[in-house]
Amino acid sequence: MVLIASGLRLELGEKLRALRLPERLFLISDQKVARLYGSQVKQALQQGGYRPALLTVPPGERAKTWPVIQRLARELLAQGADRQTSLVALGGGVVGDLTGFLASIFLRGVPFIQVPTTLLAMVDAAIGGKTAINLPEGKNLLGTFYQPLLVLTDPDFLVTLPHKECLNGLAEIVKHGFIRDPELLADLDSAGLRLFRDQERLTDIIHRAAAVKARVVAADEREADLRRILNFGHTLGHALEAASRFRLPHGQAVAWGMLAALELSRRLTGLPAAVAAYGGRLIRNLGLARRLPALNPEAVLAALPLDKKRRGERLVFILLEDLGKPVIYPDVPLPLVADCLQNVLGLPT
Ligand code: ADP
Ligand code: ZN
Repeated sequence: MVLIASGLRLELGEKLRALRLPERLFLISDQKVARLYGSQVKQALQQGGYRPALLTVPPGERAKTWPVIQRLARELLAQGADRQTSLVALGGGVVGDLTGFLASIFLRGVPFIQVPTTLLAMVDAAIGGKTAINLPEGKNLLGTFYQPLLVLTDPDFLVTLPHKECLNGLAEIVKHGFIRDPELLADLDSAGLRLFRDQERLTDIIHRAAAVKARVVAADEREADLRRILNFGHTLGHALEAASRFRLPHGQAVAWGMLAALELSRRLTGLPAAVAAYGGRLIRNLGLARRLPALNPEAVLAALPLDKKRRGERLVFILLEDLGKPVIYPDVPLPLVADCLQNVLGLPT
C-alpha cells in the first residue's frame, strides 16, 4: 500500500495502528535525516501508541554494506527485538534498501515500513520491493524481494532536500513519463523547475510517477521482462556512472542515457524526429543534462553489458517507438552507441 499526501508523516503512528502493527518498532535512518526528522517522526509514532527506538547509519551509499547489516541486527537483538518487531525505514534509497534487506532476513523476516524522504525514493526506490546492499565487487549484489507493508510518502520532506538530490528523483520521474505517461511529460514541460516551489503540483506529479512504477512492478514483480522497461536510460546511464567511478550523480547519468536512447530510437525504432527533439528539450530544460566530466569513451563502452554470444558486438537497450511505447531492442550495434557518445554526449573521439 502506498499513501501519498502532504503532512502525512505526522500521521505515521495512526496509520500503523490502523494496520494493527504490534507495539515493538525500530526506526532506522541515516544521521542526517535523523537530525532533521528523527524526533518529529518519533513523536508521530508515539501518538499512535508506539515507543520507537532509533538506530542510525552514516549517510550515503557507503552504508549499504554487510558490516552495517550485522551491526544493526546485533543492536536489534541487544534491545530485545523479536519476530513481532517492525522496522521502519526513514530516509532515501540507501536507508530503504538497507532496512528492507535487514527486515527480509532478520529472524527470517519481520514487518517492514518505508517512509521515503528523497524524491528518488518516493517515485522509485521505495516502490517495488527490491532490497539490496553492495559488495566491493559492485552495487546491489546482495538483495531480496521483500514488500513493505506500507509506503508512507510525505512530499513535505523535500523542503530540506538539496536541489541536486531533487534532480536525481526528477530524472526517474521523466523516465516514468517516457515509458508510460506522456501526459506526465507534458506537465513537467509546462511546470519546469518551478515544480519544486509548488507543493500541490509536486504532490500530484509524485503520485503519478509512483503509480507508473507500481503498475509496472505489479504486472511483473520478479523482473522477467516488463520490469526491464524501467531501465530506460539506464543501460548507458550505469556505464557512465561506472566510467566516472560513481562521481557522476545517478540522475545525470540517466538523463544522458535517456538522451542517447532517444537518438537511438530515432534511428532504430522509428521514433519520430520531432518527438525525439521534444524529449531532448524537456530533459535539458529541466537542467538534468549538466556538463559531463571528462570521461573516456572507451571506458564507457567497456562498461556496457555486451552480449558476447552474438556475432558482432551488440547491446540490449530499452528504446521508444513513441512516447509511452517502450520496446526491448536486443540488437543495438556498438558503433552506433559510440557515435552517440560523440554526437549526443559530446565526448571526445
Ligand atoms: P537516494 O534516495 O538518492 O538513493 P540517499 O538515501 O543516499 O539517496 O540520500 C541522499 C542524501 O540526502 C543523503 O545524504 C541523505 O542523508 C540526504 N537526505 C535524505 N532525505 C533528506 C531530506 N528530506 N532532507 C535533506 N537531506 C536528505
Ligand atoms: Zn535509476
